[in-house]
Amino acid sequence: MQIHLKTLGCRLNEAELESWATGFQNKGHSLTQSADNADILVINSCAVTREAVKKSRQMIRRVQRFNPTAKLVVSGCYSSLDKNLKKDISGIDLVIRNEQKDNLVDITLNELNCESMPEISTEPGEASLFQRGRNRAFIKIQDGCRYRCTFCIVTVARGVERSKTHKQIIDEINQYHQQGVQEAVLTGVHVGGYGNDINSSLYELIKTILKETDIPRIRLASVEPWDLPDNFFTLFQDNRLMPHMHLPLQSGDDNVLKRMARRCKTDDFSNLIQQARKEIKNFNITTDIIAGFPGETELEWYNSINFIEKTGFSHIHIFTYSKRDGTKAATLMDQVENKVKKARSKQLHKLAKSMRNNYLKNQVGRSFTVLWETKNENCTWTGYTDNYIRVELDQDCKTDLENRITRVNITDIVNDNCYCRVSM
Ligand code: SF4
Repeated sequence: MQIHLKTLGCRLNEAELESWATGFQNKGHSLTQSADNADILVINSCAVTREAVKKSRQMIRRVQRFNPTAKLVVSGCYSSLDKNLKKDISGIDLVIRNEQKDNLVDITLNELNCESMPEISTEPGEASLFQRGRNRAFIKIQDGCRYRCTFCIVTVARGVERSKTHKQIIDEINQYHQQGVQEAVLTGVHVGGYGNDINSSLYELIKTILKETDIPRIRLASVEPWDLPDNFFTLFQDNRLMPHMHLPLQSGDDNVLKRMARRCKTDDFSNLIQQARKEIKNFNITTDIIAGFPGETELEWYNSINFIEKTGFSHIHIFTYSKRDGTKAATLMDQVENKVKKARSKQLHKLAKSMRNNYLKNQVGRSFTVLWETKNENCTWTGYTDNYIRVELDQDCKTDLENRITRVNITDIVNDNCYCRVSM
């Protein structure tokens, strides 16, 4: 989905808009600068003066006129004060009051039933697993995919696999490093297929990067859980390769995986994960799951949930299945009813949250390195550990940690189990 965000008013409104932008991107959606081609319009309104109220009303009407087919979501002070807003101005699909603002992304996607299917969530500029920033650069190592997963439009749109040369990639990483970037995230459509067309492999590429660059952190973005050689995890013995992988499972039931035309059965997935956890200290695994794929029976869903629970993930990107024209899955009979898909997604969200909680609890007391990224107005720094746990550290305001990597100990979990607090 394309999301267009607009705000009026104070700095706080602007900050909220930024966090919604990240939230929508993390859920697999992209942002658009123009209201005309958006699927969802979100307005953060203001009511500080009569003029602000007038401007808020004008803005709502204007975007609605520009793009009457888009879903319109209004939040902010004006929408919280005017209880009749939805009746007064036609075309508003959803009003989200200030007290619900922190959950605006989830409420919007849930109420408007528009969680998106996975795209290439790993590409620069696209919805991303990872926060972009001055400290982290995305290095596209290849494009295209030779597979034909039945839900995936990317493979149709992107064509065959094309890999960049080692030299191109090394030069790009070194250039970013010279500019002060501390972490390179290797991305692509099918990262595991790297090198197939140029007589190389992902294993060889990472070996070369470790040898020919000095950037302190190298990270893998989303990697399909197949096409990896047996010795792949030995690469992580070099602690510049970060111990985290996003391995999209999509379903924990073999029949569903077959209908999806995935190349990895649940047993293969388990073996891969067991090997990674055995060989790499504090290895973190995150995944994607599609809820309500065509034909998914109660039993298949039950199997899937059990497998996911047994495997354990620190984070799951959950996608409620939606038809995408041009894919084989869109033509399959037996599409799952909307209310069933929604219920499954809700069930999985609950499980994902409790697994995240367990995962973070297990990290308390452990020591990690953190790349510090941003500081808020209270001088609390935010960064990510090597295994990609978001952490916060309270500091005196004189200390500048930006872009530094330091060792920390995790002391506790905060804010509804979303991240951890650390000490140095
Ligand atoms: S492996 Fe499947 S899901 Fe991944 S890009 Fe290729 S076709 Fe799409």
